[in-house]
Amino acid sequence: MIVDALSAGVGRRTSSRDSIGCGPRAVAGVLERNEVHCRIARVENLLSNPRQMKSFQHIAISAMTMDLPVVKTIARKWKKINSSGKLLIGGPVASNPATVLKDLKPDAMVLGEGEATLNELITAGFLEDQLEYSSIRGIAYLEKKSPRITPSRSFLTPEEMSSMFVPSVTRIVDYHAYQAARVYVETVRGCSNFGRTTIALPSGQECTECSNCDSADLEARMDCPEDIPPGCGFCSVPGTWGPPRSRSEDSIVNEVSELVEHGVHRIVLEAPDFLDYHRGQDRLTDPCDPPANTEAIHQLLLRLTALPEVAAGNVHLSIENMKACLFTEKVAAVLSESMQGVSPNIGLETGSDEHLRSIGKCGTSSDVLQAVRIAKAHNMAPFVYLIYGLPGETPDTVNESIRLMREVAQAGAERIILYGFRALPGSAFADFLEPHPKDPISAPLRKEAARINRARKDKYLDTIIRGVVAEPSMTHHGYSMVYPMSEGPLMTVRGGFSSGTVLNVKVTKVLSSGLVEGQVIEEH
Ligand code: SF4
Repeated sequence: MIVDALSAGVGRRTSSRDSIGCGPRAVAGVLERNEVHCRIARVENLLSNPRQMKSFQHIAISAMTMDLPVVKTIARKWKKINSSGKLLIGGPVASNPATVLKDLKPDAMVLGEGEATLNELITAGFLEDQLEYSSIRGIAYLEKKSPRITPSRSFLTPEEMSSMFVPSVTRIVDYHAYQAARVYVETVRGCSNFGRTTIALPSGQECTECSNCDSADLEARMDCPEDIPPGCGFCSVPGTWGPPRSRSEDSIVNEVSELVEHGVHRIVLEAPDFLDYHRGQDRLTDPCDPPANTEAIHQLLLRLTALPEVAAGNVHLSIENMKACLFTEKVAAVLSESMQGVSPNIGLETGSDEHLRSIGKCGTSSDVLQAVRIAKAHNMAPFVYLIYGLPGETPDTVNESIRLMREVAQAGAERIILYGFRALPGSAFADFLEPHPKDPISAPLRKEAARINRARKDKYLDTIIRGVVAEPSMTHHGYSMVYPMSEGPLMTVRGGFSSGTVLNVKVTKVLSSGLVEGQVIEEH
């Protein structure tokens, strides 16, 4: 059994409840490749019915650091139900192996990029108890109660990511209401931002201005004499996954078309930055140069939008993360020519350019403003991301962020996504304290973001939105939650519709900055 515990925290996903990540399907892809029968289970469903674990011999849990509480719960339940079966743990939660090994005593943990490691574990006899653990790269395990961590494994090549280790498509059916979900399909792994923070770190590390981060020699950017992890200080992607590696066009198109055959309606082309897709040379460590490979992007989108269900509008394609410094007129023209209702997710993080540089972020706040204007001019609905409680945040940076929020809203941003700083293991800011949700310094930020988003929702009143039913409302009895087919607000409608039903909804009321109420006017 593969347990998808991603973003479940203590046991229930509170945001992005409609998203299905590609991690657990990647695990299933390796098991299918080795003819190991597997099923994926959302951790919430498992908590409400742990007996279903009895039908399985072994369990693999995929989780993030924030999900450690629910991983502990499931691991304990598993050991009660099946003391001899294997317990394997992987995903970002494995970036702190010693703690997890000590607390949960899994048989093994898969560290970092997992496909090749899992494949070797299985072929070397992990499931049959015939394994010499020390011979497997990229794992952590207990040897006589002492944690052991084997040397890391080199990254998969783009060819291996595209042909050898492809995510399972058949196991998408294991997800309840997958027809209404945003199903993520990986296009690029890793990120090209090999700049670094100049903020002094709690560990004592601090930039000594060796200029590697701006070196014309892109290889030199890989190394920091102070060993500061690369990338935006709050992010662990470049440090964990390295420079961007793109999957082949064929492998992406095959996966999407097979998922569509299984009844998926909403596909997200997943990447830390989609504009790194086949951009520049291998081991690309410059986040803003050369420009995006619009030819390769165009080719991919042409093939995807030619898929009958996509062409007929029954399947919506979306792209999320895009760096402002790469989001040009040319990029917007290629995207808007091929797709409808695109919502580029553009990271700003802070409105202060000085703060932006100090956290290791590439580009400037005016790049973000320009990107929003370009997106709007091409009928897109851009989302702008900011973070409160970041190291280096001051009342001045908060004021600059509020000013920028208003400017991007004025320029056409559809939504301000504001989230609290998280000290991710493997990121440069891993040892900083996380802000209290009611942190007074950043309170004006949260207030302004809510005000802007609420005002934005008003424009949907009396409009008709096509959506897919996901699940019954947890707050309004007799209501169903409906996700917009393309970009738009989360909706709740009166009536108990089955998951996957496509509806036309007339928006009648704004309930909050993230939810509207509607009336069903047509069911497909
Ligand atoms: S490589 Fe390290 S020391 Fe050199 S400029 Fe970058 S952060 Fe500073």
